[in-house]
Amino acid sequence: KIVLFWFRRDLRLDDNAGLYYALKSGYPVLPLFIFDKNILDDLTNKKDDRITFIYKHIEDIRKELRSHDADILVEYGFPEDVWKKLSDQYDIAEIYTNTDYEPYATDRDKKIFRIVKEKGTAFKGCKDQVIFEKNEILSGQGTPYTVFTPYSRAWREKSNEFYLSSYPTKKYIKNLLKWTAPASPTIKEMGFEESDYDFPSDHIQPEKLKHYAQERDFPAENATSRLGVHLRFGTISIRELAREAKDHSGVFLNELIWRDFYQQILWNFPEVGRGKAFRSAYDNIKWRYDKEDFKKWCDGQTGYPLVDAGMRQLNEIGFMHNRVRMVTASFLSKHLLIDWRLGEAYFAEKLLDYDLAANNGGWQWAAGSGTDAAPYFRIFNPTAQAERFDPKQEYIKKWVPEFGTDQYPEPMVDHKMARERCLKAYKLALNAD
Ligand code: FAD
Repeated sequence: KIVLFWFRRDLRLDDNAGLYYALKSGYPVLPLFIFDKNILDDLTNKKDDRITFIYKHIEDIRKELRSHDADILVEYGFPEDVWKKLSDQYDIAEIYTNTDYEPYATDRDKKIFRIVKEKGTAFKGCKDQVIFEKNEILSGQGTPYTVFTPYSRAWREKSNEFYLSSYPTKKYIKNLLKWTAPASPTIKEMGFEESDYDFPSDHIQPEKLKHYAQERDFPAENATSRLGVHLRFGTISIRELAREAKDHSGVFLNELIWRDFYQQILWNFPEVGRGKAFRSAYDNIKWRYDKEDFKKWCDGQTGYPLVDAGMRQLNEIGFMHNRVRMVTASFLSKHLLIDWRLGEAYFAEKLLDYDLAANNGGWQWAAGSGTDAAPYFRIFNPTAQAERFDPKQEYIKKWVPEFGTDQYPEPMVDHKMARERCLKAYKLALNAD
């Protein structure tokens, strides 16, 4: 009998909760990763950098495992098929995973749970991706928090050493199954091209954390951690990072709490992950589905330089600064009155750090339909935002080199007109409910 540990968005050996419990089970542990065809088939960009990111980290894991005479099994296919095959092939006592809170993942795991149950195999989910999951933090009324500030207060109160300490995975590493895995599918065999993206480091300098609070809102400063992609795929541990944040920067810790907050929103209100507005009245808004306008926004050709700089940064490097994400998202949903779900999907395709919970939370916040949203009549002025957060136009000039020349387009909509159009459409929808 063996135990399987299924890596998903937790691509590391150190401080990995599920792997730790698998190794502690006493059975030899076989690590597994599945390149999920359901997910891969949906990716239209065959140069998607995320595939290479995942691939490289699995190869790193393999190298480390090999130093213990162990290995990782890498499969490419539909998870249900893979699990049917594996449960015929091996005598599996238990399967360990780290819980993934997205609706697709929960549905998938339920199916796998049923498949392996037929052979009497238990399927176990551990908490690894967040500090607090599901219903661990509830309001005094026993309901999930839908407003961030009281949630963050409760989070800070509860986050003691117990929740923040690391799992000493290495202590039981000798319990890995000693074997050599068959060759893994290559990136090319899976229909993708290897990328040469220079991925951000998985560390944040304490020096950077010191200036984080003052500088994080200024996109030209490069003052944020760029750890999003590592948190997304679990190539760093949230516990380790939260401890570091607690020691060096309360403001940075607050951002990590936002991450937990949106994960628990997605878990408690899974319909937000299935295209529904958190506040249902906002689904009455009559959006404009103007293809040309949407394309201008995607291409960074709106004539509003901060919006264009952000979209071009996204298109070129798969990253956009948080302040600019807020401004571009607001511009699409309010100035252009285009359904925020189209913008959400565009970000999902382009962002290296794309995460359903955070992206959906950010988009619904910007559109006004989410938890904790600013009142709908507060509409970002993209020009004022640029003056305030990029006063020397350094960020703008970096991404929009033709800004200030006659090559640069005129604003595609007048701010005042767009503002009024938005207020009218929102009012109509919200009064109708
Ligand atoms: P830092 O400022 O260094 O923050 C550290 C980490 O904290 C981030 O990596 C992230 O994991 C977490 N974090 C920070 N802010 C938030 C937040 N508001 N909500 C949730 N987690 C947060 N974040 C994503 O991780 N994936 C997304 O797909 C995503 N889409 C967004 C879409 C919109 C419209 C908006 C307004 C925000 C979105 N965010 C998303 C949140 C935020 O913009 C990014 O986490 C951040 O810009 C990533 O850069 P960083 O790693 O340098 O962040």
